[in-house]
Amino acid sequence: MPSRFGLGVLFLRLEGCAIGIIYPPTTNGGHMSKVSLFDYEPHAAATSLSPDELVAEFVAPYAMSSNHLHRNASRHLLCWLNLHKIALADVTNAALERFGKHRCRCPGFKATPNSPRQYMSVARMFIHLLEQRCVIPSKNRSDISQHIGHYAAALVARGYTPNTVSHVVFNARHFAYWTGNNGGWDNVNRDTIERFARHDCSCPRAKSGPLKHRTVASRRRDAAKFVAHLVGQGVITSPPQEPELDERLAAYCHWLATARALSPRGIKEKIREVKRWYAKICGEEVTCSTEVLRSILFDQVHRSTGSIGRTMSTLRSFVRFLIAKGECPPDRLAALNVGPTIPAKQVPRYIDRESIERIIGSCDTSTRRGIRDRALILLLARLGLRAGDIATLQLDDIDWGQGTIRVSGKSRRATRLPLPQDAGEAILAYIEHVRPTVPDKHLFLRMNAPHRSFAHSSIVGWVVSKAIERAGLAGIPSGSHVFRHSLATTMLREGSTLEAIGTVLRHRKPDTTAIYAKLDFNKLSEVAQSWIGGAAC
Ligand SMILES: [Zn+2]
Ligand SMILES: [Zn+2]
Repeated sequence: MPSRFGLGVLFLRLEGCAIGIIYPPTTNGGHMSKVSLFDYEPHAAATSLSPDELVAEFVAPYAMSSNHLHRNASRHLLCWLNLHKIALADVTNAALERFGKHRCRCPGFKATPNSPRQYMSVARMFIHLLEQRCVIPSKNRSDISQHIGHYAAALVARGYTPNTVSHVVFNARHFAYWTGNNGGWDNVNRDTIERFARHDCSCPRAKSGPLKHRTVASRRRDAAKFVAHLVGQGVITSPPQEPELDERLAAYCHWLATARALSPRGIKEKIREVKRWYAKICGEEVTCSTEVLRSILFDQVHRSTGSIGRTMSTLRSFVRFLIAKGECPPDRLAALNVGPTIPAKQVPRYIDRESIERIIGSCDTSTRRGIRDRALILLLARLGLRAGDIATLQLDDIDWGQGTIRVSGKSRRATRLPLPQDAGEAILAYIEHVRPTVPDKHLFLRMNAPHRSFAHSSIVGWVVSKAIERAGLAGIPSGSHVFRHSLATTMLREGSTLEAIGTVLRHRKPDTTAIYAKLDFNKLSEVAQSWIGGAAC
């Protein structure tokens, strides 16, 4: 056998096959990673182990169950490599694949294993052990897996439960192993993470089977988390970011912040929406024809009413910006005021007071989550806050001395609202007994680690849906906005003017409040009847 590495060659007999193993120099042992990827702790005493001992070590963890498969697959692989004169040091992924497909004439082995996929997974696992033992020069030698111990400790310190840590760390190990064999760590980026998330897995010890949506999502999330950790530790360089906004979009952001007084969160949402159709309007030059604007609207027909509404308002806002810059004729806004895709303004849906109290009462205040949810829902119900208001509330937005709460709303204009007694007490209970002490200044934090603010205001809607479910109320509108509508409706029924309602809901334009006037047909007819009867109410 040619030995181009100039290393010692050892022949021995196994299952009637002559096995040739090339041992790399012992000095490689110093570069080994400290934490094993899956089952086997690496150690430097690799070269003293014979293939028999390696097979014995390989099957040992499975001695309690049946280790027949492991013994068989590892010996079969050694036998096949020998028949094809492939030195262990030269085993590549391609060679392993050939082994997986070979028409077996190896003496003493079954032609087709029961589960070829599992068989190959075991074979890969064996190769992995040989890498750990320096029998095979490992592609994973500069492996990231040595950072996994530190990563796990960091997760524990951030308050993750042991169960979550083990899931997250498993995915990180899997990612480390996969990346070591698929392009390495030199330029890990979004694309690498995406390919990992969707790979048809036959990595050792990872579950195989049809790829589920949940698996893809958790692989993607945990790989990104691990990459962020490694970047933070300076182990790898930061993956290239998404391209910055071009000059025009940057100017649009500035315009939204100054001319429209929009909050940073609102700007982010507008930009996300604009990016969906930006290329249609702004290519080499600005094309703002009626046809282009209409075609953008027609592209949205398959989406929900809410999404179409968002596109409409963002498109109008963007066209206004272009008009202000002189890049678009002023009459173009008219093009957006007609067309079949414009959703009719819906009459707001609401629920009665009794149901609202039932929803509030459904929060079990003997649990930590219940205490938080009650405080959150009381703010929605008593003050008609938006989900976005709740998500952005800060601890110092509450003035305990004055009994007021500062709400920023969709714009930057902050409003102070009186804090009702029950809502104030619920918030106090939440801060005193539940809210963890963390640097994050947001009032409401996630219940699970890491304890940070809500990533998106839709979490507020989720909390509400859960409460409605617990209250056993079926067939009522879901989402956090229902409290806002209900508050307005109740105020209207109790005789408040639209103007007063507009003030409480912090509407900037009376038109926005006017939709509530559509609601109260009952009240209007009562009023009309009393006129007919002659007595004014
Ligand atoms: Zn064979
Ligand atoms: Zn895999």
